[in-house]
Amino acid sequence: MTHPWKSKGETRTIWFYYNPDDRILEYLMDMKELINRGILNAYSIAVQNSNQLPSPITLRKSLKNYYDNNTEYAKHHINPVCRSAIAILRSYRKNNDGELKVIKAEKLAMRIDSELTKIENNQLRITLKPHEYEYIDIVDKSNKYIDYSQYPISEVLLTGNKVCITFRVSTDDKPVIHNNIIGFDLNFKSIDYTVIRNSEIVEVKSIDTSDIAQAQRDYARKRSKMQKHIINPAKRDRKLKEAKHRQRNITNDKIHKITTEIVRNNSEKTFVFEDLTNIKEEGMKKKNRKRNRGDKSNGNNKKDAKNNIKSKRFRTHINKWPYRLFQRYIDYKSDNETLYVDPAGTSSECPVCGGKLRHPRWKESECINCGVTYNRDKLASLSISVRGLCLCGTPFAVSGSPSWHSMKNDYLYHPDQANIENDQRLQERNA
Ligand SMILES: [Zn+2]
Repeated sequence: MTHPWKSKGETRTIWFYYNPDDRILEYLMDMKELINRGILNAYSIAVQNSNQLPSPITLRKSLKNYYDNNTEYAKHHINPVCRSAIAILRSYRKNNDGELKVIKAEKLAMRIDSELTKIENNQLRITLKPHEYEYIDIVDKSNKYIDYSQYPISEVLLTGNKVCITFRVSTDDKPVIHNNIIGFDLNFKSIDYTVIRNSEIVEVKSIDTSDIAQAQRDYARKRSKMQKHIINPAKRDRKLKEAKHRQRNITNDKIHKITTEIVRNNSEKTFVFEDLTNIKEEGMKKKNRKRNRGDKSNGNNKKDAKNNIKSKRFRTHINKWPYRLFQRYIDYKSDNETLYVDPAGTSSECPVCGGKLRHPRWKESECINCGVTYNRDKLASLSISVRGLCLCGTPFAVSGSPSWHSMKNDYLYHPDQANIENDQRLQERNA
């Protein structure tokens, strides 16, 4: 038998045998079927795209409708399904001189994201369906489990007879600076931040990133021109690839510069971001919601189509601004631990009073309770900072802090910004 422990960078894995009950078996079989469906989808996307395998995120888009309509499993399970399908095809291609074909996953094996797992009283709890849990006894053959289980789970692998639990064991122990927090709201054309130091809001600021957005747009336009005008497919592919490469270099450079400067100016703070792991899913959700609404109003197709175009445009914008890259660079460059907070509600819940926010215009956050209209991005950065402080165990009540009253004006929405924004939007539309 191989050694039951393996280590990979910052993670540690333990495994043991188990007897899956009927519900787990059914789940594993359903997931196998989904993985096979994912393989089919990925294959047909690749065929239409000069044998390029889609990313798991692209694959998820093609599978999501089926998943939502045909399974009752928690939505997170679709992510590892897509990753597995791509991994299987990738390894087939690697072993077969770049050939691709539809292959079938035969074994029962499913990776489960950490969000759906928890350890409770020496049992592994897995969320199969929303609010429906399965428990597996952890067979603790080695006392290393006691060491590792104090760390968060990074992933669980279930097969027909084995359970592997991987823990995220952080090797670099960066400190969290509890009393000096800088929370960032990342947007297409600006990044906004709020600094809360020693329970006082001390700074709120907006950094203009429209040059990054512009560069991204320019290249998107160049690429779509190439797509139209270069007739030779081989040449077109080569040119497109070159353009993509150049675009990536330019964006990387810009993000490197801006993050270096930000970290240098804030070396003694803890950076806080929204956890954007599922941001693309959010875009999908919005689209679906709109579609549902369209169905209810007896299929108002024209309006529906318009909404879809709008949200599609919004989603491409999201994809173009490499938020994650920005976060990763900061995380890497900062001497302190970076925190990621749950993004749910940062734009719908007022961080000052907890009231509901409305957005009469994109950049406005109106709070009836507070009786004012805030600048949406700046207010979001305040929300993120407040959530970061919560994560640190030092909750901060905005309205109770004297600093809020001196800073409040900086968070208000100023109408002259609306004009600038409208101009920008017009320019964008004409572009
Ligand atoms: Zn409010």
